[in-house]
Amino acid sequence: YPFATELAALTKDYNTMVKQITQQVEELKQSEKEKNEMIANLSHDIKTPVASLIAIGQALSDDILSDDEKKRYLESVSENAQRITILADELMQVTIDNSSENTNVITDEIMVDDILIKVLNAFKPRIDHDQREIMISGFETIPAIKANEDVVYRILYNVIENSLKYSQSGTPIQIDVKVDNNMVNIEVVDEGKGIPEEDITKIFQRTYRVEKSRNQATGGHGLGLFITKNLVEKLGGKISVKSKIGAGSRFSVALPIYTD
Ligand code: ADP
Repeated sequence: YPFATELAALTKDYNTMVKQITQQVEELKQSEKEKNEMIANLSHDIKTPVASLIAIGQALSDDILSDDEKKRYLESVSENAQRITILADELMQVTIDNSSENTNVITDEIMVDDILIKVLNAFKPRIDHDQREIMISGFETIPAIKANEDVVYRILYNVIENSLKYSQSGTPIQIDVKVDNNMVNIEVVDEGKGIPEEDITKIFQRTYRVEKSRNQATGGHGLGLFITKNLVEKLGGKISVKSKIGAGSRFSVALPIYTD
């Protein structure tokens, strides 16, 4: 055959090229999938502070608040607005490129109690409205952790939001902070509906919800705990839950103590 060797070489080149292109397409598909997941996650997160702002707006226009309450509600407006700004920034980053996937989450020396106070402040209108008692214990002696503040905010926000969502108005929420095994352990305990045993391991999966149908009060996408677990693990921590149906749930978030 004339050109047989050339043809063989060309075929080989062609095959290599096809392989490379296929691989690139696969990589693009994967990063597109990750991007879409992140956009879905962030859109989910944006809904909560917006809901708080709507509730605050309603309370203010009803004009039923004392001056003191008004002051606190207004503080909460800026907390929630700040939260929306951060999420919008992240959303923009995802749209521009995928680099935020690899964003370093272990950045600053921070105090868990400071963030906890900010989170509780953001929920203040809802806590007041539902006549909740939030009991906090073990604050004073907690050492610093090393993490990005916004990431820890998101973690605590999601767990506390769930404790409010999945328990009745008027029931208390207990938050215990303690040091255990070189970790700062934050436990959020509610007296809510609890989680059936067969669902306990599944609730951290993407889009898993115990009650599949949504109602107005608890309507969510089953993304919160999925995001939360991812973030906790990025920080080198652990999240776990103990729960009893009808009695309540105890979510534990353990984050490594800051060491040089
Ligand atoms: P979402 O709240 O948007 O459904 P999450 O990922 O935050 O998504 O939670 C997943 C599921 O885990 C919830 O739908 C709910 O069934 C269950 N769950 C989470 N936290 C609690 C809690 N504190 N008490 C009872 N069930 C909970």
